[in-house]
Amino acid sequence: MVNDDQVAEAKARIAAEVGRLHSRFIDMSHQLHGNPELAFEEYKAAELLTHELEEQGFDVQRGVAGLDTAFVATYGSGEPVVALLAEFDALPKIGHACGHNLIATWGVGAGIALRRALPDIRGTIKVIGTPGEEGGGGKVIMAKEGIFAGLDAAIMMHPRDVTYLDRGSLAVTPYEIEFFGKSAHASSAPEKGINALDALLQVFFSVNALRQAFRPHTRIHGVITNGGDAANVIPDYTSGSFLVRANDQAYLEELNQRFVDIVNAAALATGATVKITEGLSYKQRVCNTRLVELFGENLDALGVPHEVPAQDVGVGSSDIGDVSQLVPTIHPYLQICERGIGGHTPEFEQAAGSARADDLTATGATALAWTAADVLLRPDVRQELRETFREQLGRDPQR
Ligand SMILES: [Zn+2]
Ligand SMILES: [Zn+2]
Repeated sequence: MVNDDQVAEAKARIAAEVGRLHSRFIDMSHQLHGNPELAFEEYKAAELLTHELEEQGFDVQRGVAGLDTAFVATYGSGEPVVALLAEFDALPKIGHACGHNLIATWGVGAGIALRRALPDIRGTIKVIGTPGEEGGGGKVIMAKEGIFAGLDAAIMMHPRDVTYLDRGSLAVTPYEIEFFGKSAHASSAPEKGINALDALLQVFFSVNALRQAFRPHTRIHGVITNGGDAANVIPDYTSGSFLVRANDQAYLEELNQRFVDIVNAAALATGATVKITEGLSYKQRVCNTRLVELFGENLDALGVPHEVPAQDVGVGSSDIGDVSQLVPTIHPYLQICERGIGGHTPEFEQAAGSARADDLTATGATALAWTAADVLLRPDVRQELRETFREQLGRDPQR
């Protein structure tokens, strides 16, 4: 049994370790930031992070869930089991414009600080490397392989222009749509053709016509990826990419069906044939409110102000959603730049490698490690997280 004084003492040791490791964290963050790698091609990043963890006494399993760059680093044994999650992929052309170099540094840094501060810990510390967040759904694939089963807590943090403890995300299903028609001269014999572009445009028209009937926070949006080749030829092939999003899992299923009906109707209306390819869905994110509360207390103790997101602001989707549907999870945000600088921009890429972000490698790692320590050391917390999970999701966490 551990009392409050012992928890406080453990947290002081963690903070001291973070202080000693700070220059190493900055170095890690810069190495990642300076070598941006795309989803599932993060070989250098995975090598850097696993090497660091191994050096610090973690037992590292590479290439988990059939993904070359995914890893699970483990220290200790038995329960409770706490995992720090690390994303490390970058974006095409704009590098680490989502700041995943910081996510990795915070997660790996917290794991290392924990293990150094609590070498005789009863329980298990895991650092899980989750590649391909940007459109790859690495965590969705890993979740299907049972990588997150048995965790008492999955902890990660994302950088942004404001600090939020909790923020929902939309469940999303991607679709690739292809229409096959028949080409013909667009002026002398259009009646002999079947216009695949008209079919694709009809999808946009029907989605737009239905917008007023959708529930708030529904998002359906798409682009034309192939719209035909020449204005004087009736296009015989067109394609588009679409994302269907909702803030409720059951409603997403309903919307998916609605969208597929729209696409099939467009084919029927124009005489084109259609191929619908459904991609990897990301589930809706439900952060564990008890774990969020603990994290908030730790941020307060560190003197980091935070705010509650407004109800009406737009949100995106993230593959952490799938983890949050399995085990108690948090995905807070830490402010690393001036407000108004959005993610996926060159300005945010700069912020992710700035002196301010360097400074915050210590704050972030401490906040995450302290929260992990709460789960590992306080016997009541495990049970509270499980009960909260049950209240929020109506089932037990995955064992
Ligand atoms: Zn992103
Ligand atoms: Zn991101």
